[in-house]
Amino acid sequence: MGAIVNMGEFECPHCHQESVLLREGPRGGSKRLEGVEILGRLPMDPSVAAQADKGIVAALDLNTKMGQRYGELARKVAQLLDSRSAAT
Ligand SMILES: [Zn+2]
Repeated sequence: MGAIVNMGEFECPHCHQESVLLREGPRGGSKRLEGVEILGRLPMDPSVAAQADKGIVAALDLNTKMGQRYGELARKVAQLLDSRSAAT
């Protein structure tokens, strides 16, 4: 179906500049994902671990940027599954 690149980038909490951590996917490098559709990217975000320590699941907290990213990806995957089941 496709791939989600996890922790491929890191956004600096101070200047919000993004650094690429994993050279993979459409940004170059590895051929492992050649021909695979990238459905989305989840950057490394220290707030996810900080929330987990407090018992909060980042993916379920739509008040955060990461929660919104997870939500968007879930919607995209659900739409893809819907369109595929409608086609069969
Ligand atoms: Zn910075």
